[in-house]
Amino acid sequence: MSSLDRHGRPLRSLRVSVTDRCNLRCSYCLPEGSQVWLPKAGIASLEELATLVRAMTLLGTTKVRITGGEPLLRRDLTTLVRALAEIPTIEDLAMTTNAVFLPEIADRLRAAGLSRMTISIDTLQASRYAANTQRDSHGKLLAGIRAAEEAGFTPLKLNTVVMRGTNDDELAAILRFARDHGHQARFIEYMDVGGALNWDADLVVTRSEILQLLEKEFGPIESLATRGSAPANLFSLSDGTVFGVIASVSAPFCGGCDRARITADGKLFTCLYAADGLDLLSPLRAGATVAELATLIDGRWRERNDQGAQDRLEVADRGPSAQATELLAKPHLGMHTKGG
Ligand code: SAM
Repeated sequence: MSSLDRHGRPLRSLRVSVTDRCNLRCSYCLPEGSQVWLPKAGIASLEELATLVRAMTLLGTTKVRITGGEPLLRRDLTTLVRALAEIPTIEDLAMTTNAVFLPEIADRLRAAGLSRMTISIDTLQASRYAANTQRDSHGKLLAGIRAAEEAGFTPLKLNTVVMRGTNDDELAAILRFARDHGHQARFIEYMDVGGALNWDADLVVTRSEILQLLEKEFGPIESLATRGSAPANLFSLSDGTVFGVIASVSAPFCGGCDRARITADGKLFTCLYAADGLDLLSPLRAGATVAELATLIDGRWRERNDQGAQDRLEVADRGPSAQATELLAKPHLGMHTKGG
């Protein structure tokens, strides 16, 4: 069975947020004091999450990314990885992490069948990292990158959210760091998603500015062809170094979006900007079979009309997409809950 939404977009890729909790307080995602955690009783077990993923695969999902919150905070995560790695129709099983806890678990994740890893690194400077995350763990991030390399997760993707006046003077250094370690840097435009309470259009460094900054340092940059639904546009330096830019703000790619999200409490979201999700955990706990869950998901996907990032372009005097009070009342608005 293959499901198409109202714009003809298939359901190919899934982000599973295994926890809304995070050990960092990044200013652009989960600023201190902005969060209400999901109630523990409503959190899906890893077995339940695996069942929901199985239902998604019946509809054509072949790419699964485990995320959060910080996924490594979830105990026994390797059991989920193992269960997902056994699903034959999943072609790509990846994880996004801040890497702080990777030294303890990278080997086991690899052995359990995780194929790819993306690590967030917004700065190479420990003091900046501490200022932006409210935690002093930059050394652990670097140790986490080494652990991922040693476990065989190479090349890594290294995600950098670019913010004007915060880290836009480090793009060349980050690209060099990625290149020297054999990894792929991916520069992400600062998005006005829930949690980004201090978002301002002036703080967004657009794709064209990012390319200009890098061109000054490295010379001509070539644009490479990319797959329609991939979030990153790929570029190459003259020495062959490839990097990505995710232009969700200046050039949204909703038209090719084949991505759904499942939250740690088993809700299905069909857009990063969506306010409401479809509860899948209640029917699962009431005894729904995998096929019945797939039918529910199929129904929601077929009525999907979302193009959140595109719609945001129309907003006059664009500011944060949620205010602090809304975020406290509706934790699913936060990117740390929906899964980045
Ligand atoms: N904790 C993990 C991590 O740090 O990679 C996974 C979850 S995090 C929400 C996933 C990704 O979302 C990270 O790469 C993060 O930088 C990105 N992200 C969060 N808020 C963002 C924002 N306002 N704009 C752009 N990217 C954002």
